[in-house]
Amino acid sequence: MYINRTVFSEEHEAYRDTVARFMDEELVPYHAQWEKEGIVPREAWKKAGDVGILLPAIPDKYGAPGGDRLFSSIVIEEQAKRGLSGPGFTLHSDIVAPYILAYGTEEQKQAFLPKMAAGEMIGAIAMTEPGTGSDLQSVKTTAIREGDEYVINGQKTFITNGINSDLVILVTKTDPELGAKGISLILVEATREGFTKGRNLDKIGMKAQDTAELFFDNVR
Ligand SMILES: Cc1cc2nc3c(=O)[nH]c(=O)nc-3n(C[C@H](O)[C@H](O)[C@H](O)COP(=O)(O)OP(=O)(O)OC[C@H]3O[C@@H](n4cnc5c(N)ncnc54)[C@H](O)[C@@H]3O)c2cc1C
Repeated sequence: MYINRTVFSEEHEAYRDTVARFMDEELVPYHAQWEKEGIVPREAWKKAGDVGILLPAIPDKYGAPGGDRLFSSIVIEEQAKRGLSGPGFTLHSDIVAPYILAYGTEEQKQAFLPKMAAGEMIGAIAMTEPGTGSDLQSVKTTAIREGDEYVINGQKTFITNGINSDLVILVTKTDPELGAKGISLILVEATREGFTKGRNLDKIGMKAQDTAELFFDNVR
């Protein structure tokens, strides 16, 4: 039975039209090819940024659309309707960016959020390791403080947007003695020396999404 939803305003529906048109013109025709290639090209991310599809619910003072959570849900709905499992927009917009908004310094917000909204920087969050999935407290990647820096060593796997990533929220042990209480999130740019990307993993589905291994060797 059709349920008439009342939560979306006219402004939301106008946004939905923009999102739908963009997806029909710029994502749907190419998705099968991206599934063969195992990745969504950065150019598609930039186009999504140009039309305001990235970071829908992040404030406009950071160059983002400045909508509410319903704007994000519209992107999710329209993407799901079309079976567009490749673009990791939601993880970038609704997981990575809100962490930066909530916990980042003003300098970090100014530096990263506008570029993420424009699709010039792609975000990822790296928790899982080869021996650690659900049991997150047993992560082995460490970030040990040396003076003003953290020195990061370890590896992550199954990271969405991994190959494309420019900015990674990394789950690390900053105090391995403290178990779950010794875990910290560290924001790492992919340009840091010692940060390398491994295999783009072969999966049974979500073929166009780059789900990858990441390695950290004395990254500062
Ligand atoms: C497409 C894809 C994208 C991903 N993207 C990311 C990402 O961006 N970042 C990231 O960090 N990770 C990502 N992951 C990894 C994902 O978070 C892990 O796969 C997940 O945490 C489960 O870990 P695991 O695969 O090691 O399975 P395990 O933890 O080994 O679990 C295996 C099975 O055992 C069950 N199980 C585990 N513990 C218990 C328990 N205590 N009691 C009962 N049952 C239990 C689980 O439910 C599961 O069925 C991604 C995975 C996939 C498939």
